[in-house]
Amino acid sequence: MSVSQLIEEAYTGLKSLVIGLGVTGKALTQPGVTVLYPMEEVARDNLASFRGHVELVGKDEDPAVPKCVACGACVKACPSDCITILCPIPAKEGEAGGEVKMGPAPQKGSKTPGAVYVDFSLCSLCGQCAKTCPVDSLKFSDNPYMVRFDRKEFRIDLLARLKRLAGEGLE
Ligand code: SF4
Ligand code: SF4
Repeated sequence: MSVSQLIEEAYTGLKSLVIGLGVTGKALTQPGVTVLYPMEEVARDNLASFRGHVELVGKDEDPAVPKCVACGACVKACPSDCITILCPIPAKEGEAGGEVKMGPAPQKGSKTPGAVYVDFSLCSLCGQCAKTCPVDSLKFSDNPYMVRFDRKEFRIDLLARLKRLAGEGLE
């Protein structure tokens, strides 16, 4: 390798070092956007800027009832297959009443979800479900600290959670 090539290589290496240090230095002088959990927690009024698991949004007139119309669009949009929505299967003509059967949303003529679950162990928090919902019935929860020992505990009953939060006056 010639001397001029050596000088050129040294110059390129030095230049990239200076640029890298500049980027690091700039980041060091900017305010932190993460918190050192569990030593620190996000301020309550700033929780909305973090993503917890998705949850249902209740109706303005009755916060314990979801806006959801059981269209199944969020189930279809989810790339990780983590949402389950079941709704009553409408009885066929002449069929006697009895136990209400549930099936995956959508069901023709059925606009009320009977069960809504999210498996947070699979969720990538991509937001596609909330973006797709035609009635804004999904949002990210203010629950970004979920820690569990068993992955089964990440399957969350969103209807039960909505009712509980509405009962606590938090919705
Ligand atoms: S945020 Fe993304 S991965 Fe999570 S439930 Fe919604 S669509 Fe699925
Ligand atoms: S997209 Fe919205 S309305 Fe449709 S099933 Fe999902 S939560 Fe319900």
